[in-house]
Amino acid sequence: MPVVPLLESIYRHADDCMYRTIFEDATTAIALADAETGELRDINRAMERLVGWSRAELLGRPQWVLHPPSRDSRTSSPGCSRHRWAADGQVIEAQVLTRRGDVVDVEIKASSLQCNSRRLLVGFFSDITERRRQERELRHQAAHDSLTGLANRLLAEERTARLLALARGSDRCVAMLLIDLDRFKIVNDGLGHAVGDALLRDIGARLAAVARSGDTVARLGGDEFMIVMRDTHDEAATDFGNRLLETIKRPIRVGTHELTMTASLGIASYPKDGANFAEMYRNADAAMYGAKARGRNCLEHYSPEMNRRTADRLDLEGDLRRALERQELVLHYQPKVRLRDGRVVGAEALVRWSHPTRGMVSPMEFIPLAEETGLIVPIGQWVIESACAQIRDWVAAGLPEVAVAVNLSALQFQSRDLPRQIARALDANGLSARCLELEVTESVAMAAPEESIRVLAELKAVGVRIWLDDFGTGYSSLAYLKRFPIDGLKIDRSFVDSIATDPNDATIARMVIALARELKMQVVAEGVETWEQFSFLSRARCDAMQGYLFSESILAEDFARLLTQGRRLAVPAP
Ligand code: C2E
Ligand code: MG
Ligand code: MG
Repeated sequence: MPVVPLLESIYRHADDCMYRTIFEDATTAIALADAETGELRDINRAMERLVGWSRAELLGRPQWVLHPPSRDSRTSSPGCSRHRWAADGQVIEAQVLTRRGDVVDVEIKASSLQCNSRRLLVGFFSDITERRRQERELRHQAAHDSLTGLANRLLAEERTARLLALARGSDRCVAMLLIDLDRFKIVNDGLGHAVGDALLRDIGARLAAVARSGDTVARLGGDEFMIVMRDTHDEAATDFGNRLLETIKRPIRVGTHELTMTASLGIASYPKDGANFAEMYRNADAAMYGAKARGRNCLEHYSPEMNRRTADRLDLEGDLRRALERQELVLHYQPKVRLRDGRVVGAEALVRWSHPTRGMVSPMEFIPLAEETGLIVPIGQWVIESACAQIRDWVAAGLPEVAVAVNLSALQFQSRDLPRQIARALDANGLSARCLELEVTESVAMAAPEESIRVLAELKAVGVRIWLDDFGTGYSSLAYLKRFPIDGLKIDRSFVDSIATDPNDATIARMVIALARELKMQVVAEGVETWEQFSFLSRARCDAMQGYLFSESILAEDFARLLTQGRRLAVPAP
């Protein structure tokens, strides 16, 4: 029997026990109210269970006591002010307030029936809280990144559009900050995706913690994050961007790993760098690549010539892919000079790219590109093999034996095959491991120090000597430094530069040298250009130096000549 006629029967036969029982026991929550006054006339048990109030407590009360006062006018549907389930056949969604104070989402099917001379409104209530919760969750999922819980690209785009609409016609500025982690792939591939995920979650939480309320923090995918700032200006965006870089740089503990990440950050602002999300995103991306090219761990504001540089970069990338086949790479050698007697004790192999139209391309320009594209792996292998072949030729020509150091990029350092690769190259050229040295930058080694200890030990087992390059620019933990099985430190050029003029840099250099002594390591100073720097380093008892004072990096044959002639740096008498 359809429900309304059934109810009519109940009310017509009010004394009839059977009908009453059916009404009471119905699993649907039902309430009846006087159509004239809106007073509740009856409710069944299911309704009592739903709201937690008893029938006796509710009878005679206005119908709307069931409903919480609406915060949002949109939820009170037209024609049912204060949630009167009025019109026949109408279905409304509303909320009821339970005795416990909970708000329950309900769907009310409204009907009416005539009972004697009175018209009664009937509401059939279904609890739709679970459905609502699922809908909310789906909406949330559609707009958020499941890994970090941050906004996703879709929501970032929507919010940016809203901010731009508000800013239009006013003098307000909106800034888009695009953040890309440096060398994330290495952590992700090297330590596993679970560590990569934990790292992304941590970085996401850090960004969210420093963002102002009202700014949108999003993860666009991979290791790319975005923050959209409202009501700002260039200077504030720069300050904030620098704060983000600092925040990202704090060590992160994931399980047994302590990781240090850096990021490159690009900024595009409305109205100057784009009128919509797509334009701002494209330009923030170009700026972010600008920051990567400048050496990473820094920020750049967009400028129009960056797009040209992006196109340039793509060309260069294509050329670099072909450079190895076309044998356009060459190694140059920079002598390492012992400070005590000015004797050449080794060399650093530095790669150069002789490009058919651009001329000599600096490694500062193409090594970061090679790292991003993964091309550094075959290039790095070529460097090791070429250096070994060169040493063999020098030995065969009867030159005094000197050790040649090659630089390792982050990706190479993480490659499981590297120790075997080095052993094979030494073997193929009949060289002892004494001949080859490796340089790993401090920032690469410190990025995942526990992992580095393992890799360094495997490399040491091959017999080669290992140097920590660009020392002083990274964030070394002394505890780890002590545990690294390395042979020496190379003081970064930036300190040597002002060693004779800036007391702070002088102190740092002196401390690095003392530290190396303490750890029984050797120290080499990079970029020594003047006699003042030389004499400072001599007094500080630094072991060796490289720099223009003695020689820049030179061709293999020039280096051979230098060894044959036995040329030394004419060290002034102490
Ligand atoms: P690095 O390993 O720290 O190399 C030292 C850089 O300082 C070299 O620049 C060298 O030419 C330069 N330099 C040496 N003495 C002086 C000086 O007195 N004054 C000044 N201003 N500069 C000096 P280069 O050759 O441009 O290489 C830059 C960086 O590129 C290297 O820094 C290294 O990180 C990277 N690189 C070079 N060759 C390779 C390679 O074969 N593999 C990898 N992965 N990276 C390489
Ligand atoms: Mg080096
Ligand atoms: Mg260096």
